[in-house]
Amino acid sequence: MSDAFDRLKKVLALERRQGFRNRAVIGGLDKFAARWEADVLAEVKTPEQREQVQAIVALLMGYPTLESPVARERVIDDILARAQRVMEAEARPSAEPVPAAAPQPTAPPPPKAPAERPARPPRKRPSEPAAGLDAPVTRLPGVGPRHAQRLAKLGIRTVRDLLWHFPRRYEDYSTLKTIDHLQVGEECTIIGNVWDVQSRRSRSGREIVQAIIGDSTGTIQATWFNPYMIRQLKPGRAIVLSGKIDTYLGRLVLTNPEWEPLDRQFIHTGRLVPIYPMTQGVSARWLRRLIKQTVDAWTPNIEDYLPDGVRERQDLMPLGQALAQIHFPDNWDLLEQARRRLSFDEFFFIQLGMLRQRHRWQHQPGRPLPANAEVMERFREALPFQLTRAQERALREILEDMAQSRPMSRLLQGDVGSGKTAVAAAAMWAAICNGAQAVLMAPTEILAEQHYRGLSRLFERLQHPEGRPVRLALLTGSLPEGEKRQLHEAIAAGEVDIVIGTHALIQETVQFASLGLAVIDEQHRFGVAQRARLRQKGYNPHVLVMSATPIPRTLALTLYGDLDISVLDELPPGRQPIRTRWLRPLERERAYAFIRRQIEAGRQAFIICPLVEESESSDAKAAIEEHRRLQEEVFPDLKLGLLHGRMKGEEKDAVMQAFSRGELDILVATSVVEVGIDVPNATVILIEGAERFGLAQLHQFRGRVGRGEHPSYCILLSDADSGDSEERLKAMEQTQDGFILAQKDLELRGPGDFFGTRQSGLPPLHLAQLGDVRTLEAAREEAKRLFAVDPELSLPEHQLLRAQVAQFWHGHGDLS
Ligand code: ADP
Ligand code: MG
Repeated sequence: MSDAFDRLKKVLALERRQGFRNRAVIGGLDKFAARWEADVLAEVKTPEQREQVQAIVALLMGYPTLESPVARERVIDDILARAQRVMEAEARPSAEPVPAAAPQPTAPPPPKAPAERPARPPRKRPSEPAAGLDAPVTRLPGVGPRHAQRLAKLGIRTVRDLLWHFPRRYEDYSTLKTIDHLQVGEECTIIGNVWDVQSRRSRSGREIVQAIIGDSTGTIQATWFNPYMIRQLKPGRAIVLSGKIDTYLGRLVLTNPEWEPLDRQFIHTGRLVPIYPMTQGVSARWLRRLIKQTVDAWTPNIEDYLPDGVRERQDLMPLGQALAQIHFPDNWDLLEQARRRLSFDEFFFIQLGMLRQRHRWQHQPGRPLPANAEVMERFREALPFQLTRAQERALREILEDMAQSRPMSRLLQGDVGSGKTAVAAAAMWAAICNGAQAVLMAPTEILAEQHYRGLSRLFERLQHPEGRPVRLALLTGSLPEGEKRQLHEAIAAGEVDIVIGTHALIQETVQFASLGLAVIDEQHRFGVAQRARLRQKGYNPHVLVMSATPIPRTLALTLYGDLDISVLDELPPGRQPIRTRWLRPLERERAYAFIRRQIEAGRQAFIICPLVEESESSDAKAAIEEHRRLQEEVFPDLKLGLLHGRMKGEEKDAVMQAFSRGELDILVATSVVEVGIDVPNATVILIEGAERFGLAQLHQFRGRVGRGEHPSYCILLSDADSGDSEERLKAMEQTQDGFILAQKDLELRGPGDFFGTRQSGLPPLHLAQLGDVRTLEAAREEAKRLFAVDPELSLPEHQLLRAQVAQFWHGHGDLS
């Protein structure tokens, strides 16, 4: 080792002789640092030495960023002093340093780090059980019951929680500067001596501590609104300050800068400093120090739960290093690598959980519901149109699944208007032809009613194989109690073939005689839990979920990783494009004139009222008022209907039917018409206050028109001029492709709102970005690979992983 240190000393001596111009080695001291570290680390023995070496490397790396020779000289002195310390430790024969408060052999937690010394990692105890991570935080040095209580408020109860409490962002204090180079508004770090300290009271009576800090290039005043600083800042003491440079009366000042003594490891200054979310009740400094101590003490020995093969194939950082770097990154690049590793873990756990759900689900026996060609031909004949190629393909996939003795779990995905209902109807037909029952669940009453009407019309043209009509029933929350009870009895007795309804269907009291197929429409409106409850209604029924929300593949795999996917990537023929225009409110009259012309040509229109608040009743009130105004002042000669969420089931039904039959010219509605409504003669939709809706919602609204043979139009009224809404409205004008819009929305807002991930029942992702396709794909690949050999994670080498996956899914586990 002395070789490496000799070389270091020679280089530094040369650098000094040459006047600190960073010319002593080719490429500069920072380049030298990397090579030197590789050499020396192979030789150092104790964690303490390693720590010193790392500090030296950090100083060497930062050396070129220093501008003044004075600062450079100081850094070189510091390096030499540290090198000296390592050499001395080496010279002593019994150099194995036992930290002042070394861990007791029996006590799993790390050592108490002495207050004034950097935290030292414990001696390596490879046999330490992983359960150590689940030790309560009170096992950590300096954490008493009171602190534990406060940490608990941040959701931190165990050492694991603390290590996984990731920073929200980082302050870059890694650039060292001399005082004469400081600039206003800059975030930076200086090293200086305390020249003078005073405390005084401000006019408001607060105690202020003011210090003059100097280096050889100048002085700067630093102010703290913290009386305790007076005890810390002894004149003459060398300290490091980090913060944003400000001015006061024309001079540069630092207000409440972060600081620490120079002779310590950098935690709050001089590096990328972590900023943690929510620190109420604990000081940011205290938390940062606690995490630093814990990271230093625990991460070097942490056992990685990821199998080595996975880590090597995906070139991922080891867990301990990733945790250390995510909290206290040495540079942006290592931070990125740490993020990638830990995001991978989250995706990997999600995928493993999903695969396991799917595996368990599919290993339960299901009832095969084969459909023969002749039976399906009869269905096709009853349809008023020919199925598209995409519909035929999806249907084939579904029927193949249903013929198996393991239950289907399939997602049918297709943009608005792609004709998912017909496919679902065909599947239901196959089910009832086997003497089973089928159920279709819709997210709103209006939609359930529409499905009921449409399917009743279709199945009227068909005969049940038992030689009788097909029996359908509608079950919604607004059904009177008596009728509801009767219907429950009929369903339980097997007197109904197809039940259509809302979430009333999944209430405990509904029992089926022989449920064979459950179809869930507009899946994104339902949570995973609801899906699960519907499944429990039958003896492992086949499940088909349908979504009009075209989501990017990454997201589909994340949210529906437990499902197979069929896609309708083709619209029925003859569809007209929908032209979309964004108008300013001043142009409202033009929009009305346009609507009038369409109605005169025999078409119909929707007018969507602006969203008032998150409350249905204020939306309803606004819609009532808007309907009155439009009917009385704008279209007195036309027939306008009103639809809002506060209306009774049969009122809504009556209005919808009147609109469907063409008895109303314009339907004024709240966002209740968002999904599923199908009135092919409607050709214009005007959306007021369009900026208040998300892209997904706007796309769904627009899907209400363009369903027939006539050219259709979507008018967005909005005076939005803020960035996001403007981009949304422009995107609507530019494309009608739901996938492109979904991708756009993902970029603009993140996945939460669009896809209902919040209600999806999945564990929250802390680091993983749903837009991060590459990492997700990699995680999925690896999960499948692992799953193929050890689906239940029962091999001994997967026990750590198994525990971690369980931990991750804890409280979110029951997917199937
Ligand atoms: P979504 O996929 O949005 O649920 P729907 O199932 O409501 O779409 O279908 C939209 C409209 O297209 C309905 O009026 C339906 O009757 C019609 N449709 C569905 N499939 C076809 C087809 N193959 N040819 C013509 N029209 C079709
Ligand atoms: Mg639909």
